[in-house]
Amino acid sequence: MTRLLEGMSIGGRMVATGRTFDDFNPADGSVWARVADGGLAEARAAVDAAHAAFAGWSALPFHQRSHCMIKVAEVFERRKMEIVAALQAEGGGWFGKGMFEAGYVPEVFYAAAASNYAAIGEVLPSENGKLSMAMRRAMGVVTVISPWNFPVLLTARGIAFAIAAGNCVVLKPSEETPYTGGLLFAEIFKEAGVPDGVLNVVTCSRDNVVAVGDELIDNPRVKGISFTGSTPVGRMIAARAGAHLKKACVELGGKDSLIVCDDADMERATAAANFGSFMHQGQICMSVEKVLVHEKIFDAFVQRFVERAAKLKMGDPTHDKSHVIGPLINDKQAAKVKAQIEDAVAKGAKVLLGGRVQGRFVEPTILLGVTPQMLVYQEETFGPVVPVIPFRNDDEAVAIANDTEYGLSSGVITRDEQRGMAIAHKLDTGMCHINCSSVNDEPHVPFGGAKASGMGRHGGRWSHETFTETRWITLDRGGRPYPPMF
Ligand code: NAD
Repeated sequence: MTRLLEGMSIGGRMVATGRTFDDFNPADGSVWARVADGGLAEARAAVDAAHAAFAGWSALPFHQRSHCMIKVAEVFERRKMEIVAALQAEGGGWFGKGMFEAGYVPEVFYAAAASNYAAIGEVLPSENGKLSMAMRRAMGVVTVISPWNFPVLLTARGIAFAIAAGNCVVLKPSEETPYTGGLLFAEIFKEAGVPDGVLNVVTCSRDNVVAVGDELIDNPRVKGISFTGSTPVGRMIAARAGAHLKKACVELGGKDSLIVCDDADMERATAAANFGSFMHQGQICMSVEKVLVHEKIFDAFVQRFVERAAKLKMGDPTHDKSHVIGPLINDKQAAKVKAQIEDAVAKGAKVLLGGRVQGRFVEPTILLGVTPQMLVYQEETFGPVVPVIPFRNDDEAVAIANDTEYGLSSGVITRDEQRGMAIAHKLDTGMCHINCSSVNDEPHVPFGGAKASGMGRHGGRWSHETFTETRWITLDRGGRPYPPMF
């Protein structure tokens, strides 16, 4: 049955616009929800509501804000299974992915609550015997724009630390996941008793996203922006924020490599490649998009990798927990992935496994013979398609891995820890995981990319730094002399 979500949450009230847009279940194309379509007026009203709530929220003792975050975490825990179902229906994911995501989110709020108990500054030496302090304080209104692939997790990551620190947020979820990435949070914040206006949610269709998005950056009351999404949109958002001299933390696309050395544990290596390439149909910013394998073990690796990947079952995940491979989020994404497969085949690549696209369902696909001239080598795929490329030595592996405009994450599989560290140091990525796939996240770590994969860091104290401003405060105790003529 189609849900009616005709209001968006502004200042604690559900505000309808009289306009709605359809929110589809990508597995069967049915309309899962009808959602309020906001515009400029709602974006402005949401910023005003966040601004109005800021004085009270930021003045609360820090531990009371932490207690609110803990209550939010507890409601998320209580509603876990309902959230898993919504994630599957709205986003098209496997049951196991939903369980992971819904289970992870409470930890984000617990970590945000804990972050308030850390030091908020430093005492500095002073030439004049002053008490000289570097102190952090909340900025005010922060805009959070989130994507659809892990909508609950990535929205939580954007808002939790910012709000715990005392900011108030206007959240704009993706039009593909306006409930799990947006309105769900409004419900849960209300249930947890967080004061009205601390979190405001503006939903809108793709038609209104530019008007809403621009306002959520340009409005003078907005002081910071957290964006997670594609590189072209993130670039534009960072540039726009930069023009206003506003802080922006942008977490963007990736083209991550998994490097498999000749001394690798084959079980570990093929499991890391399989999970990293095909989990959530490859729709993870840190997905393995190239598997680089030492030539000495190339044939053995490819055979085992294909055997493993061939066992992944594809189908509508909402009805069958064994369907690990669900649909891609929309037709546009499926067409993009199909075009990359066709381009690779036309230019000489060999399809070793999969290759077929049925509507929004794309088979787990392994390609051999991929060259730098192919789209699948250059562009982010964001689908279940991965080339396996041989290398002769570690320097060559590093060169191939770095041969991309992106620099999000990476993985290295080797039994030699020093060799793994040496490779990690040479990779131009914000994150690197030795003896693991590139897909890793924890709420308190510095998550973020280099190059075109973004700017700034989300997670733990790095989020706190991103969404607070550092001020220098001094207290003179009669020590600083002025020139006598004054
Ligand atoms: P997207 O850039 O299309 O959309 C992201 C968000 O931006 C959505 O809420 C969308 O509505 C909004 N948006 C689009 N145009 C806008 C505009 N002009 N102004 C303001 N907001 C606008 O990305 P997507 O398709 O939702 O997500 C997939 C992309 O996100 C992939 O490239 C993926 O790698 C990346 N991603 C990165 C991370 C990370 O942490 N680095 C995590 C997840 C996804």
